[in-house]
Amino acid sequence: MLEASSLCVEFGGVSALSEVTFSVAEGSVLGLIGPNGAGKSTFIGAASGVVLASAGTVTWRGATLAGRRPDQIARLGIGRTFQHARLFPGLTALENVMIGSHLAGRSGVFSAMFRSRRWRKDETLLRDAALEAMESVHALELAHRPSEDLTAGQQRLVSVARALASGPSLLFLDEPAAGLTDAERHLLAADLKQYFATHEVTVLLVEHNLGFLMSLVSNIVVFDRGTVLAEGTPAEIRSNPAVIDAYLGA
Ligand code: ADP
Ligand code: MG
Repeated sequence: MLEASSLCVEFGGVSALSEVTFSVAEGSVLGLIGPNGAGKSTFIGAASGVVLASAGTVTWRGATLAGRRPDQIARLGIGRTFQHARLFPGLTALENVMIGSHLAGRSGVFSAMFRSRRWRKDETLLRDAALEAMESVHALELAHRPSEDLTAGQQRLVSVARALASGPSLLFLDEPAAGLTDAERHLLAADLKQYFATHEVTVLLVEHNLGFLMSLVSNIVVFDRGTVLAEGTPAEIRSNPAVIDAYLGA
């Protein structure tokens, strides 16, 4: 399982996560919700090697994640999407999916990647996995389009495909439905539901759209100002007075 224990993150002395402890059972889909600034993306960052923890641990199947580099974490079978990252311009959607989720949002890395020996050797495998992942989120027809021609929603679908393409055993999705049209969001919910049912994957899903989130998760953790406010089933969370006060009531 994924286990966070007393995890703390500070940015310039300001606490973003404080003593965060919760776990995600192997093979389950956990929802993570909370107001803007609650620390949801920071948690994913700490668990995927892009944010440094100041104290505490995050482990996956017993291996420490906090403190490892993003590429090391990707090699452990962990995929993620980024809340704000855009696709690399100048590349097609397919090339963006082939790059791998741990390189998303960084600059200067993809040209080196395309030149590497490993890339040439594995290109066919990467291409097949990328096309399959794109198909699983109904994004196959976008494959050969330049990424800068895609709508915000289409770019987001491509980023989800990029996270799925490595066949992750642990998946972090940071607001995958943000910027999607209603139709795109409903289709993505159905596609992810199908994907989760047919793959051995453990998922942490951050999403503000509660209809989307509740259709996919078995349990929910609520963050508020860097701490765990509540945990429970969707029904328990909906009726929790502290959650209604901090988040749902607004
Ligand atoms: P959420 O994803 O729940 O909206 P974030 O994890 O993005 O929240 O942010 C948690 C807090 O940490 C916020 O106060 C935010 O301003 C701060 N924060 C996030 N990333 C950084 C950063 N790189 N540098 C400084 N402060 C940050
Ligand atoms: Mg966020």
